[in-house]
Amino acid sequence: MDPKVGDFARADVLVQGKKIMAIGPELNVTDAAIIDATGTVVMPGFIDTHHHQFQTALRSFLAEGLLSDDGQPHGRKNYLNLVLGQLTPVYRPEDVYIGELYASLSQLDAGVTTVVDTSQVNHTPEHSDAAIRALRESGRRVRYAYSSGMGAGCAYPRDILRLQKQYFSSSDQLLTLAMGAELGGVREEWALARQLGVPIVSHLVGGFGHTRTLERLDREGLIKSDNEFFHATSLSEASWKVIADTGAGISIAAPVELTMRHGTPPIQTALDHGVQPSLSSDVECTMTADFFTQMRTVFTLHRGLVNERALKGEAQLPKLLTCRDVIRFATVEGARVAHLSHKVGSLTPGKEADIVLLRTDAINVAPLNNVPGAIVTLMERSNVDTVIVAGRIRKWRGALVSVDLGRLRSEIEASRDYLFKKARVRLELF
Ligand SMILES: [Zn+2]
Repeated sequence: MDPKVGDFARADVLVQGKKIMAIGPELNVTDAAIIDATGTVVMPGFIDTHHHQFQTALRSFLAEGLLSDDGQPHGRKNYLNLVLGQLTPVYRPEDVYIGELYASLSQLDAGVTTVVDTSQVNHTPEHSDAAIRALRESGRRVRYAYSSGMGAGCAYPRDILRLQKQYFSSSDQLLTLAMGAELGGVREEWALARQLGVPIVSHLVGGFGHTRTLERLDREGLIKSDNEFFHATSLSEASWKVIADTGAGISIAAPVELTMRHGTPPIQTALDHGVQPSLSSDVECTMTADFFTQMRTVFTLHRGLVNERALKGEAQLPKLLTCRDVIRFATVEGARVAHLSHKVGSLTPGKEADIVLLRTDAINVAPLNNVPGAIVTLMERSNVDTVIVAGRIRKWRGALVSVDLGRLRSEIEASRDYLFKKARVRLELF
């Protein structure tokens, strides 16, 4: 994914410590341990720029839910009421811990080596400590977006000063910090983020009236290249101009936006304004977080919409997305939007070694005829063979390393049982 390095049908990647040292055919090294990558694609790990990992215990319960009760039909069963209104308030630190850890390991298993974890559950400083402990233990690369919580014990946003000192004083670690600051919020968190020099992440959904707020904040000089916006659906032309002019990043969660009524994922609109999107999973209560699903949805949706215009006889059409385009969104652009391009996003000598090996000799992929095509149109998470984060092997030949899945599963089931009972939300198995 680095045009300066190029692509190779057969080559070596030399890793020393946490860094990539060299890439090319027949590297002349005699004293290295060798991983035989025959029959695999060797590429950078995927980067998810918006995932609410604390919610993992809620997986699939809201598969048919909408984002909110928007006054239109179908909105009775919705995310804002059930997840933010009822379930999130009852979270204990141990629920945050197991949700974060389980999600991190599951995503490592799927080759998603980096996440912007949008943690909207900081009810007390102990909740934040539990989240960070889980993220550290997982051995994954995480930009932890410290966001608000609920209740009298909530120390948001000022507790970020303690967190920064206690956990994030070094920039040479897997864990980095961001501020989750919503567009409608007070400005203290925006000022604190700028004071600490950490990026700001926010939800941006046109249907929620965020467009006008964005334009007002821009007039006050508050929108900058350190902003990341999730969704960017149903925006005004003026809002797109703000994003393009400031260099702010966007994150498209296409499957969730389509099924939960955020609005049509603005893939072509972003490109029309010179904005390259990153991709994200958002919430697993409604949709899988695996990145083959993210890439495939963006690829088929974009092409489907442009193809329909072609069938209606339109002549001036944008280019159809290529497989390489969506892989770039899932890697290079993800790193840029997460402000981690200097470390990851491509296999480049000098960057850190976040590497995945995807099996091309599997029954769903062989024979290999086109590499980007196989990744985007054929593969799924069972093809993720080996996962390396900063030079450390986290998944080896199809299995996570040093993980007691049985123990973790019983912990997350116990957390699930507590959460639904306490929140008085009924689970329906069928
Ligand atoms: Zn979100």
